Amino acid sequence: MKQIQMVDLKGQYERIKQEIDLAIVECLDSAAFINGPQVNEFRQKLEEYLSVKHVITCGNGTDALQIAMMALNFKPGDEIIVPAFTYVATAEVIALLGLTPVMVEVDPETFNVTAPIIEKAITNKTKAVVPVHLFGQCCDMEPILNLAKHHDIHVIEDTAQALGALYTFSDGTVKSAGTMGDIGCTSFFPSKNLGCYGDGGALFTNDTKLGERIRMIANHGQAKKYHHEMLGVNSRLDTLQAAILKVKLYKLDEYAAARNKAANYYDAVFNGVDGIKMPKRQYNSTHVFHQYTLLLDGVDRDSLKNYLEEKGIPAMVYYPIPLHLQKAFETDRYGEGDFPVSEKLCKQVLSLPIHTELDEEQLAYITQNIISYAIKQRQYA
Ligand SMILES: *Cc1c(COP(=O)(O)O)cnc(C)c1O
Repeated sequence: MKQIQMVDLKGQYERIKQEIDLAIVECLDSAAFINGPQVNEFRQKLEEYLSVKHVITCGNGTDALQIAMMALNFKPGDEIIVPAFTYVATAEVIALLGLTPVMVEVDPETFNVTAPIIEKAITNKTKAVVPVHLFGQCCDMEPILNLAKHHDIHVIEDTAQALGALYTFSDGTVKSAGTMGDIGCTSFFPSKNLGCYGDGGALFTNDTKLGERIRMIANHGQAKKYHHEMLGVNSRLDTLQAAILKVKLYKLDEYAAARNKAANYYDAVFNGVDGIKMPKRQYNSTHVFHQYTLLLDGVDRDSLKNYLEEKGIPAMVYYPIPLHLQKAFETDRYGEGDFPVSEKLCKQVLSLPIHTELDEEQLAYITQNIISYAIKQRQYA
């Protein structure tokens, strides 16, 4: 059996090596390392893929979030609502800009924020909410968008983990993750569903004015060289990464299908097993399974993780500490016990290997070990 990895970037590369190597050599030959034609070509392809008017590429997903906050003209003290159960980047950029991240609970089954949860946190200082489509499934966006409209607040989607996921509105309209709010932000970090071979990110918007602002902010606040109309940053997707992403974008749906195949295998085995809860599939969103995350109840998460490691099966805890209990975000505002669901998830979730290269032999080995451990542990419980 091939060694099991959390993410198999090398195996994935080997299957597309010819195309990738050719794309890289083309970049090297042209020496247009910054803003080469591949950046624009990839941008256009991604706009088509997502059916969104404007894609603005940038240096990484964290930059994308920061640029989004800058583009919406928030002022110090403005409150931005974010889930307590997410990756740090979402809240970090808010605090860095002198804005106030207001953390909220997540749904115990989808691990995502919901409209009723967000509504409770809205004050007269609230300017935006950042729904994070965690682990590859869209937040239930229709009620969130309605709520945001009602309170006149912006919606910035963090779709770093859900690029390619589709959400269906009650009237049948289908939209891509990241294209439903005012701005969508994504990351092309190597292990993301559409990953490059270094850092990369992008913002999406259907608002042309906002798109122009975003483009300027990502480029030192200039539209015309040396004419700086506002403060910006230097955040670019380099040509090599764009060339790689262009090749991989054509494979994204195939990659999502491969991830779903692995997830279906896991689901079929774990269905009905005591102590193991499979990730919930929401009826109105597809799932691109950036992570396949179990909720363990009655099976000790950390000892299972250790046991799997001994068997050569990697597993990861995303995330071990909720944001409101992170030292970096220490404030009088929150303390332990404030978000019991997020805190419980941090103690009970376990993400299993999921990627485009898993085979049935590996899946069988992973699931057999988990099941036998769960049964044993419950017998002695
Ligand atoms: C990866 C990730 C980011 C940040 O992306 P980088 O490219 O690593 O800066 C932001 N939000 C979420 C939810 C992520 O998973």
